[in-house]
Amino acid sequence: DDNLILEYQITIFGRNERLMLVRNVTRLHRLEQMRKDFVANVSHELRTPLTVINGYLETFADFSDQLPPRWGRATQQMQQQSRRMQNIINDLLLLSRLETTDIEGQQQHIEMDRLIDSIRQDALLLSGEKAHNILIDNQCDAQVIGSENEIRSAVSNLVFNAVKYTPPESSIIIRWQETSQGATLTVEDNGPGINPRHLPRLTERFYRVDKGRSAETGGTGLGLAIVKHVLIRHNARMEIKSELEKGSRFICLFPLHRLHWDQEHQH
Ligand code: ADP
Repeated sequence: DDNLILEYQITIFGRNERLMLVRNVTRLHRLEQMRKDFVANVSHELRTPLTVINGYLETFADFSDQLPPRWGRATQQMQQQSRRMQNIINDLLLLSRLETTDIEGQQQHIEMDRLIDSIRQDALLLSGEKAHNILIDNQCDAQVIGSENEIRSAVSNLVFNAVKYTPPESSIIIRWQETSQGATLTVEDNGPGINPRHLPRLTERFYRVDKGRSAETGGTGLGLAIVKHVLIRHNARMEIKSELEKGSRFICLFPLHRLHWDQEHQH
C-alpha cells in the first residue's frame, strides 16, 4: 500500500513533541493511474480512424474544382476541424507519454543556442506575413541535460504561442542566460498580455483564456501543460509574468550545466 506520511514538530505546553500523520493514498494513486491509462488508450484508438478520414478529405480537396462551391467550402471546413482534432490527439499522446515514462536513457547534452536558433527559424515561418520581429539574446553557453525532443517541444510551444497571440510585427525575444539561480530561458513578447487572474491556472490541461480566439489560432489548450511537464522532468520550473497591454514573459529556470564543466568537476 502507498502511504503519505507527514511529520510535524510541534510545541505543546512548552514541550517539543512530534506529530505523525499517515494517510493511505493507494486508492488515489490507483484512480490517477486509471485516468492516465484511459487518456492514453482513447487518444491511441482515435488516431487510426482520424487518419482514414483525413486521407479521404484530402482526396476530396484535390478534386474541389469539380465539386459544387458549397461542397468545396464544406470540405475545407471538415479538413480544418479534423486537423484540429489530430493536433489535440497528438498533444494528448505526448502528455501521457510525459506522465507515464521515465526520462532515463534519453539523457543528452543539449546545445541550447543551436536549438533556439532552429526554433526561431520555424517561428518565422509560422509568423509569415505577420512579420514578427524575433530576436535571440544569447548570453551563455550553458547546456541542458535531458531529452532534446522534449525541450524542443517546450521551447517551441512558448515561442509559437508568442507568435499566435500577438498582433503582426510584435517583438519577441528569446533569452538564454546564466543567473544566480541557474540557467534561465526567457520568452518575452510585447503583445496583449494575460489577465493576472488567469495565471495560476494557465498550465492546466485545456485551460484557455479566450476559447474563441484560441480555437481560431488552432490552439489545443494543452501547450502550456506540455511545457510544465517537460520542465518538471528536467528539474526545471516555469514562472509566468504578464501585464495587460504590455506583454508576457515566460521564464524557465534550469539547473546549471556548463559546457565541459561537468566532466572537469567529476574528479
Ligand atoms: P493553446 O493551445 O490554446 O495555445 P496553451 O496551453 O499553449 O494553449 O496556452 C493557454 C492560453 O494562454 C492560450 O489559450 C492563450 O490565451 C494564453 N497565452 C499563452 N501564451 C500567450 C502569450 N504569449 N500572450 C498572450 N496569451 C497567451
